[in-house]
Amino acid sequence: MAKLTRRSVLAGTAAVATTALGAGPSFAAAPLAGKQAPAFYRYKIGSYELTAIHDGVWMRDIDDKFVKNAPWAAVQKAMSDGGMTPGKLAIPFTTLVVNTGSKLVVIDTATGGQLTPTAGLFGANLAAAGIDPKDVDIVLISHFHPDHINGIKTKEGAIVFPNAEIKVPAAEWAYWMDDSNMAKQPEAARPGWLNVRRIFGDIAAKVAKFEGDKEVAPGITSIAAPGHTPGHTVFAIASGNQSMLCLSDTTNNPLLFARNPDWQAAFDTDGALAAETRKKLLERAVVDKMLVQGYHFPFPASGHIIKTGAFNYDLVPALWAAVDLIFAVTTTEGRPRGGPRIVLDTAVASLQQAHTVRMRPIDNRGRDPFTWKRYRCAVSQSEAAKRESGESGRVGHSIPELPPQL
Ligand SMILES: [Zn+2]
Repeated sequence: MAKLTRRSVLAGTAAVATTALGAGPSFAAAPLAGKQAPAFYRYKIGSYELTAIHDGVWMRDIDDKFVKNAPWAAVQKAMSDGGMTPGKLAIPFTTLVVNTGSKLVVIDTATGGQLTPTAGLFGANLAAAGIDPKDVDIVLISHFHPDHINGIKTKEGAIVFPNAEIKVPAAEWAYWMDDSNMAKQPEAARPGWLNVRRIFGDIAAKVAKFEGDKEVAPGITSIAAPGHTPGHTVFAIASGNQSMLCLSDTTNNPLLFARNPDWQAAFDTDGALAAETRKKLLERAVVDKMLVQGYHFPFPASGHIIKTGAFNYDLVPALWAAVDLIFAVTTTEGRPRGGPRIVLDTAVASLQQAHTVRMRPIDNRGRDPFTWKRYRCAVSQSEAAKRESGESGRVGHSIPELPPQL
């Protein structure tokens, strides 16, 4: 049997194309678009609206020094297993905007177009999402690496969020703004330290510093997650009975570092501590079945962490949904469309997996009215009949007093 190679596949395609063009009617040549749709993605946590804003991807050249405690062959294999070219690590950047209803919060500010030519779309995508930087009330910073802080200012030094309070981890500030720490760094590391001074030097008095486990914005709590940097911070976001974890840089590209959480990247200030923190947080995300957002995860950078081995994890990316899945199974009058049972099962399963809707027993005491109402609307009469007869349906969870017309 002839071996299938890239060359033979392409040659075959060309031959088919030539035949088709030669034998059939001619087709107009459509120009290549060469552009993506604006990259922002919205989802809800309780009543909060979250918008993931993509900045771009850095195709970073890495070598045998990138992972300090793994053989280069193992790193290359992990990249190959993840569909990447060994030696070219894809590092996407995605920030998170949280609209709490009372405050507009931005978590990390992207590269500001100052890191790599293939990133810097944050501003354009923010605008495409209909968000004006002037409306942002709070900017939360997870740590002081340039891909997280550079978007605070333009290349020319103008403040991008003129009306926002900028809040940073106190431990991060103490570490990076200490000149004696900078003096100890090798020459190659100095640009990163000078960059921190460029961003924060002339606005130092206006920057608020927070400790871990503080409510830094309504419903958003800081959690110290040191190792990647001394003050590296993740954020728990909670509204109603839903919550999620914004993992910041706990895990860089998950194809390497969720699958191999013990690996210590060259850019971790304390690699062993970073690995310890990573394993704790990934384990927590698994146990709580918590939706997570990762700054360097593939866009839209959210999903669930699963455990694939005693010490290995993986990211299950969030299901991209054009509409609210539960809402999709009801009509505007709140009546089920055809085949509600199957659709509902699928929707509930998707939500439980993809959106961490906490389907706690829905009753008259602890229910989330919004979820409860929609869910109730979507339940078929046969489900109600089953419940009344004491048989629990696959959708589970007691749902009280369905109106007879459903
Ligand atoms: Zn980063």
